[in-house]
Amino acid sequence: KAKRAGGNQSAFFEAGMGEVAQLRFHLERELREGIPAGQLRLFLQPQVDAEGQIVGFEALVRWQHPGRGLLLPNAFIPVAEESDLIVEIGVWVLTETCELIAREKARGRPLRIAVNISPRHFKEAHFVPWVRDLIAATGIDGHSLTMEVTEGLMIDNFDDVIARMSALQELGIHFSVDDFGTGYSSLSYLKRLPIHELKIDKGFIQDAPTDPEDAALVETILNVAKDLGLTVVAEGVETAEQAAFLNSRARAVHQGHFYGRPEPAEAWLERTATLSSMRVTAD
Ligand code: C2E
Ligand code: MG
Ligand code: MG
Ligand code: MG
Repeated sequence: KAKRAGGNQSAFFEAGMGEVAQLRFHLERELREGIPAGQLRLFLQPQVDAEGQIVGFEALVRWQHPGRGLLLPNAFIPVAEESDLIVEIGVWVLTETCELIAREKARGRPLRIAVNISPRHFKEAHFVPWVRDLIAATGIDGHSLTMEVTEGLMIDNFDDVIARMSALQELGIHFSVDDFGTGYSSLSYLKRLPIHELKIDKGFIQDAPTDPEDAALVETILNVAKDLGLTVVAEGVETAEQAAFLNSRARAVHQGHFYGRPEPAEAWLERTATLSSMRVTAD
């Protein structure tokens, strides 16, 4: 309906759209205004080693929508992925994360944070120099930053992806393959790219203690990681059974509700007692 539109032009566009397309169009416009208006929030979720120590966090974005409350990524990332908005979100999250690491560094607390990187952002012409400038401007160590990428990134322009990853690796940045095993790509890219870590998707962790097929898949991923010298993060660990299953098979870093939910960055960082015992491995 034209009533919802901001001007004649958008009313014109909206008139030809179905209901779903209109909702997306509306959401996209709200997000386009909401990002510069400061409506994004940085949440952190802890990653815990076999000794129960927090070794780092994953940065997870939320949108504090003025009318609809706190929105999870699935409510807006897919829409953002279809436009340049995903780049704006990526710029915001990376900037916020590096500034946070810099503040904590100034307080003598090393912090390692993993950030989800959209392929569209990663493939932008100036992504690498922009990251280099951001690291220089904030004065952080590159090794305090991990970039989570998905197998989808590896599909095309492989040589370009190698070149970018290598340049970022030289800054100390680590690469982690998110949702590993859910994509379609061949595994050969693991050998050719400077990857440090695999993240086992929560879909595999869920039933691993009870379902032999999921258990076999998790074991296969752990073996691939071991053979290639990669570290592993198991995502979506919710129960003691899942944690025990993993611990009986390999040394992995665990992330999931069993250890802590994503919470506003300040909330996690205020828990100084937890963080004072935090170890960040230099490499
Ligand atoms: P992801 O990177 O695979 O993130 C893990 C998701 O699993 C997060 O959902 C997290 O809240 C959820 N999770 C963590 N522990 C548990 C658990 O024990 N049980 C269950 N059931 N879920 C758990 P979230 O925050 O809704 O994020 C969803 C996806 O949105 C992320 O998946 C990531 O692909 C994307 N995303 C989030 N933040 C960003 C961002 O800053 N940039 C980009 N490009 N994508 C992002
Ligand atoms: Mg992730
Ligand atoms: Mg994941
Ligand atoms: Mg995911």
